[in-house]
This record gives sequence, C-alpha cells and structure tokens, in this order.
Amino acid sequence: MFSEILEMVVTQGWFLPVTPGTKLIPVGGAIANDVHGKNHHQTGTFGRHVLAFELLRSDGSRRLCSETEHADWYAATIGGLGLTGLITWACIQLRRIAGPWMSTEVHRFENLAGFFRLSDVSDRDYEYTVAWIDCAAKGSAMGRGLFTRANHAPAHPDRRPNASTRRLGVPLVPPVSLINPLSLSAFNTFYYHRQRQPVVHRTTHYEPHFYPLDSIRDWNRIYGPRGFLQYQCVVPPVVAEACIEQLARIISTSGSGSFLAVLTQFGELKSPGLLSFPRPGSTLALDFPNQGNATLRLLDRLDSVISAAGGAIYPAKDARMSSAVFRASFPAWESFRPFVDPRFSSGFWRRVME
Ligand SMILES: Cc1cc2nc3c(=O)[nH]c(=O)nc-3n(C[C@H](O)[C@H](O)[C@H](O)COP(=O)(O)OP(=O)(O)OC[C@H]3O[C@@H](n4cnc5c(N)ncnc54)[C@H](O)[C@@H]3O)c2cc1C
Repeated sequence: MFSEILEMVVTQGWFLPVTPGTKLIPVGGAIANDVHGKNHHQTGTFGRHVLAFELLRSDGSRRLCSETEHADWYAATIGGLGLTGLITWACIQLRRIAGPWMSTEVHRFENLAGFFRLSDVSDRDYEYTVAWIDCAAKGSAMGRGLFTRANHAPAHPDRRPNASTRRLGVPLVPPVSLINPLSLSAFNTFYYHRQRQPVVHRTTHYEPHFYPLDSIRDWNRIYGPRGFLQYQCVVPPVVAEACIEQLARIISTSGSGSFLAVLTQFGELKSPGLLSFPRPGSTLALDFPNQGNATLRLLDRLDSVISAAGGAIYPAKDARMSSAVFRASFPAWESFRPFVDPRFSSGFWRRVME
C-alpha cells in the first residue's frame, strides 16, 4: 500500500514520485490505472516511475517487464485496468525530500479565467497545483474556487515528522444523502468565503495536503444508501477553457452539483501505457450524489461535450461510460486487446467491449 511505503520512506528522506488523492491504494492498483497526482505537469504519471515489475499470467507464465524487457507487456499493463495478469512485485523510483513538510499557497480566484491564469504562472515553479471549484455557483461567479500550489519544504529542525493519526469517521449511513442542492450550495459558499484573504501561505504536513479524505473514515457514507458516482474527464488544451466552462454551466443548471470538483492541468509528458488516461489538457474530477436516471442523463450530457472536444473519460472512476465513448477516448484499445489474459475480465471491460 502507498500508506505503508510512505511510513517506511519519509523518515529516510524519500517520497512517492506521484500520488493520487488517497494513500489507501496498493502499488498494483496504481500501475493498473497509471494514476496521476497534482504534479503531472512536471512529473507525468505514476507509470513513468515504474522501473520494472513481474507479470503473472493465468497460464502460470511470468514475465519481467520494463521499458527494455517485454516492453509491449510493460506498455499494456501500465494503465491496463488489471486485465493483462497479476502484478506480483514492482520496482519504483522514489524521489528525494528534505522532510515531511509542504510549503503551500492557497489563492482565491473569481472565475475560470482566474484558474487558467494562476495555472499558467504556477506550473513552472510549483511542483503541485490543483484547484477546488464551486460548481454550484452561477452567473459571474461560475467557476470560482481556490487554487493551491505547493512544493516540498526545506527541513524544519523544530518540527517532528509525525502526522496526527486521529481519524474522524462517519459512523453510519444516513437514510438519505446529506449532499443535496441546498446543502451543497451552502457548503460551497461557506468554503469559498472561509478564506478571507486572496492568498494564504502555510507550512503543512504532507498528509492533510495530499490526503484530506483519508482522515475521514467512511466519508462515502455521507451520500446515503444510494451512494455517489465519480466522474473525471480530460479535454485538450486548445478547447479547455471553453469546454470546462460549458461543463460547469451544465452542472450548475442541472441542480445536482458535485460536492467535490477538482480542476487541474495535465502537462506534456507522455504516459507510458496503451490505455493511460492522462494526456495534455485540463482535467476535471467530480463526485455526484446518485439520483438515478437524472444523474445518468447528466453524465451522458457531459460525455457528449467531452467527446465533441476530443477528450476522454477516466475508467478508474467510471461506472457507466458507453462502449462508443470508451473507444473514442482510448483509440489504442484494439492494440491492447490481444494482451488481455483470457481468464481475466471485469464488468467495465465487458460493458465497453459489447
Ligand atoms: C479519495 C480518492 C482520491 C483519488 N484521487 C485520485 C487521483 O488524484 N488520481 C488518480 O489517478 N486516481 C485517483 N483516485 C483513484 C485511485 O487512485 C485509483 O482508482 C486506483 O487505481 C485505486 O487502486 P485500488 O487497487 O485501490 O482499486 P481497485 O479498484 O481495487 O483496483 C484498480 C485496478 O487495479 C487492478 N489491480 C489491483 N492490484 C493489481 C495487481 N496486483 N495486479 C494487476 N492489477 C491489479 C484491479 O484489477 C483494478 O482494475 C482516487 C480515489 C479515491 C478514493
């Protein structure tokens, strides 16, 4: 698990080269989705830092895969959705850090243009950039949010490298979702205005910076018994601003906003997997309370905007994308298919191969 790796290496001055917004994932899962972090613009995907791994197939054969050995299996398995076989071990390149602290700046921005401006001036000097956007806001406030940029901080001799291990929890599943248009709009307005100054500088431990949700046990329970649907897309740079604006407008007028709406930029570094999701452009990640057909219809509308823009949807977070959208998002699917282990499959794969 990423959490175990971090526990072992941070005190030795090392860190994961790329990490998603949770550390509660195994290395095999990170390779299978070729996960990305807030540093994609400088570091690319996790797969770029996987030096080698062993792939065990259902016929009992084992392959050592790297950029130079069984390179075709290496490219199929990174981002290969766990379909090419079982990864039994992997060798990854860590990166050096001075300590567990992060220097962060949070900038308030008033609309999407503000996000793109901040992103443009930050990507060279800040390793980690990401924004929360208020997707319930309408009119001139549409797309407002908070932009965080950060770097690993120099060593702090006066601070001890122990993060708080206290975890809050959601003790039970409420009978209905606590996330509804009213609570969402109130929360977003509060969250946006909670930061009074335009910019706040802080030194924080890496845990709350990278993994805010991991500290709330069973956070998914707030969505009630029907749960929620995650959705993440990427759209090419030339159409990104117009396209994200169109998506934000559709979401804010749908009345079924997303509690978490995270916007960031992918850089130019090539992803190594045949089916890797990250590619140059802007990526928007959303969590919608599951309201049945209304939510599915909303996601279909978002799909059509993204497909028309030449973008893609992230399989790691998908529960419903159509075969046509998958094939358009991942044109290498035909080259990938021969690598699928005949005894491996998934609900996702059967749906998109229909
Ligand atoms: C709070 C939160 C934040 C997140 N933030 C991000 C983010 O910022 N960026 C991002 O990219 N993703 C993000 N994700 C998604 C998450 O990182 C990916 O879905 C990740 O792949 C999950 O891995 P898993 O093994 O836990 O999940 P699973 O769904 O169990 O596995 C994922 C895939 O990996 C395969 N797999 C697992 N182990 C092996 C193995 N040993 N050999 C072969 N295949 C294997 C499985 O078959 C499956 O296809 C986030 C998820 C959460 C819950």
